[in-house]
Amino acid sequence: MQFEDLSISKSVLLALTEEGYTIPTPIQEQAIPIILDGKDLVGCAQTGTGKTAAFAIPILSHLHPVVSKSAKGKKIRTLIVTPTRELAIQIGESFDTYGKYLNTKQLTIFGGVSQVPQVDELKKGVDILVTTPGRLLDLHKQGFIDLDHLYHLVLDEADQMFDMGFINDVKKIIKLTPTDRQTLLFSATMPIAIRELAEQFLKNPETVQV
Ligand code: AMP
Repeated sequence: MQFEDLSISKSVLLALTEEGYTIPTPIQEQAIPIILDGKDLVGCAQTGTGKTAAFAIPILSHLHPVVSKSAKGKKIRTLIVTPTRELAIQIGESFDTYGKYLNTKQLTIFGGVSQVPQVDELKKGVDILVTTPGRLLDLHKQGFIDLDHLYHLVLDEADQMFDMGFINDVKKIIKLTPTDRQTLLFSATMPIAIRELAEQFLKNPETVQV
């Protein structure tokens, strides 16, 4: 199995080839077709398994033909919620790399820094927003974030968000998104709280374990 055997966008494939990626990792091989199909997914995978690309590649492939080319027409279509600033930055960089030949615009935001540059970028228009939970709720409350047009919600490292006490924030965030969204939940472990979260908010999810 190679990336070219998966129905991903040619522009994403070109970026992957330039990165030297030809063979999908096991989580990518299993998750990419499910996500391209529009289904909800629970992915049990640790960092280092290639899980970021497992969701970034199909999301970019879906967004490429549907997002507005002009900044003005852009709406947040994909929201990725992750526990730490470091993870948020890494995910944002992955979207930049795999999406370099697309007209998708991604923005990474997190707490502990001034919100002013983040708000300026949000005002310019973004398709993909990568965030930690607190900053998202904060900026949403101030009216700078509209999640009404969302297609994809990714909950990354869900067990870590639970361990860090973010579970109620995560639930609040989910409730701000449209019910007809596609939800992808990734977690290294599956404690009861995470299984309950998946049961409550995901629709007939497929499970992938590596
Ligand atoms: P992640 O688990 O998403 O943190 O990814 C782990 C590392 O593997 C990252 O540095 C990726 O750039 C790299 N990677 C992900 N998928 C592939 C692939 N199919 N082929 C080669 N490297 C990859």
